[in-house]
Amino acid sequence: MDLQKNVKALQGVGQKTEQALSRLGIETIKDVLHHYPRFYEKYDLPIPIDSIKFNEINVIQGSISSPPQQIRKGRLNIIKTTLKDSSGEISAIWFNQVYLKNKFKIGRKFILRGKIEFKYGQVQMLTPEIYDLEEYNKKIKSLQPIYSLTKGITQNNLRRIINQALKVTYNQLREHWSRDIRTKYKLAEYNYAITQIHYPTNKESLEQARRRLVFDEFVFFQLSLLSFKEEKAIIHNEFNFSNINEIEDVIKSLPYELTNAQKTVWKEIKNDLNSNIVMNRLVQGDVGSGKTIIASLALFYVVKNNCQGCIMAPTEVLAKQHYYSLQELFKPFGIRISMLVGSLKTKEKSEVYNKIKNKEIDIVVGTHALIQEKVEFYNLALIVTDEQHRFGVKQREALSIKGINPHTLVMSATPIPRTLALIIYGDLDVSIIDELPPNRQVIKTYAVETSYRKRIYRFINEEIIKGRQAYIVCPMVDESEELQIESVIEYAKKLEKEFNSNIKIDYLHGKMKPKEKNNIMEKFSENKIQILVSTTVIEVGINVPNATIMVIENSERFGLAQLHQLRGRVGRGKYQSYCILLTDAKNKKTQNRLNILCESNDGFIIAEQDLKLRGQGDLFGIKQHGSIEFKIGDIFQDVDLLKLANKVAKEIINEDPKLKLEKNKIIKERMEAFQYNLEQVVL
Ligand code: ADP
Ligand code: MG
Repeated sequence: MDLQKNVKALQGVGQKTEQALSRLGIETIKDVLHHYPRFYEKYDLPIPIDSIKFNEINVIQGSISSPPQQIRKGRLNIIKTTLKDSSGEISAIWFNQVYLKNKFKIGRKFILRGKIEFKYGQVQMLTPEIYDLEEYNKKIKSLQPIYSLTKGITQNNLRRIINQALKVTYNQLREHWSRDIRTKYKLAEYNYAITQIHYPTNKESLEQARRRLVFDEFVFFQLSLLSFKEEKAIIHNEFNFSNINEIEDVIKSLPYELTNAQKTVWKEIKNDLNSNIVMNRLVQGDVGSGKTIIASLALFYVVKNNCQGCIMAPTEVLAKQHYYSLQELFKPFGIRISMLVGSLKTKEKSEVYNKIKNKEIDIVVGTHALIQEKVEFYNLALIVTDEQHRFGVKQREALSIKGINPHTLVMSATPIPRTLALIIYGDLDVSIIDELPPNRQVIKTYAVETSYRKRIYRFINEEIIKGRQAYIVCPMVDESEELQIESVIEYAKKLEKEFNSNIKIDYLHGKMKPKEKNNIMEKFSENKIQILVSTTVIEVGINVPNATIMVIENSERFGLAQLHQLRGRVGRGKYQSYCILLTDAKNKKTQNRLNILCESNDGFIIAEQDLKLRGQGDLFGIKQHGSIEFKIGDIFQDVDLLKLANKVAKEIINEDPKLKLEKNKIIKERMEAFQYNLEQVVL
């Protein structure tokens, strides 16, 4: 079947399913094949009841030992029974599945698979899956794919659709790597990889499949970057800046001294601005390392050289923050600053547009509104992008067309080791601020079990009485974004019962309109909200110095880099701050991982330790959600593949810069298809 055909060509996919799939970014049969599982479930051998592990998925086998009971609790209809083996007995409950009553005849043998929890005053298995022995035996040791979902589509639904797509396209995918390359780098064949990524025969075949697909993703990414770079070539610096002595006055006016790392990076930037080639530099520095002042100095430098500069932030709240701090800093130096954000009225906007065009403004601070076409600069010489990992590669490009080859400076707080940064940000030079200002307080970090939750709430209460505020990052309940939002709202509601009514609790999630989000963030920064429940959207560089507590539910589900970013939201003022990582995960590896965070506040150390700990082939490792996101590859986990991909991409481009050779035709095609996705690759 034609891979470009619409999903409706598959049996059982009607309009509703089509819409649901489209929300997952799936339009064609090909997209179906490339919707890779998020992880895989293992079906282990049953274990004796007396050796079950608390708070984990357990599989037990036994016979029904008590007649099923039906218990009503509010709207819940609970079915409860007990299962017994030679080592012991345990009860299990299900919600609103009354039909189960007839299934559980005393003495009948079953296998139950589910989580053991303490619920309704008793240790029990919660809503386990039910199998008869034969059925379960077939599943043992196999790996079942678990996909990201959205409203209107279930796991089984999606599995069926993907299965079908695999069948109708069996062996029809065209291989794009030559036999030579595949042999040389030990890559699995394309059709095999796609089939196995969905339905792996075993762990080894899954590893092979994943390796091949990660390799592909990284090579196409690198090829795109390299050809990007090729196109831009080396741009001559047309600006002729002279040295600005007033810079020293700005530095002297600061209430602190620049760190050595800041001084070095500022020197690198100044060199770039005065060199023959236009600057294209990434400044990487941990949260709180003081990137803003560096960008401000660069802006000051071009403005005093009679040019304009702009700084773009990913959110309005952040843009406003920059706006106010720049005004404060440059007040004594007669620099004219304006803000351009989506929430301005049309009239206000056009006023700003005019001023920018007529050079009545020196620095513009803004959000994406800045890359809109109406913005015309008089003589833009420098573009700063803050928290650049939040912008797509393409957005970054759009802005740089605004001037006559302006200098660009991008700032990122994703701490990745330099070797990785050089590959990932292939088209940029990299500066690293690897030193925090002195006397920075250490954020006290603890990993604790959920049984501490009440105590933590009491602690939050005490801090609020002292005038402080708290963030709570909500549990990740499910693969579906909609459910995630529900859980945030529900959590906030539940929390209200735990606190005095004069404590204001509100919530934030990614699907809120920017205006609503700003509104909430503004209220929080004015301490009109004391507890903010949120998904991970607060991760972006927001600065509320009065917030001192960050609680992260289900912390084991996050990557360390992301946890570190989240933690960076507190400890920004003069008060002692705390980060509490809640988890019930018992396994040693998870605990070791979280301990890295408890023991260090340094993003680069954390990133390196994380890399070490993960090692290779950690298929079930946690993806670094939210920072540098690929579809299947993970730059931390797959660092060796990333390096290999870099090498291979370079070899291809060196031999055939425009990918014109016959043998590279299909690679070019696939790369272009990938480039199209580049907008979604968030760096
Ligand atoms: P980030 O790198 O996360 O963007 P910021 O630029 O927002 O960090 O800086 C965080 C805070 O540290 C700001 O309040 C800033 O004024 C302060 N700061 C920056 N550099 C120094 C320094 N050298 N010494 C002391 N404080 C500093
Ligand atoms: Mg910042």
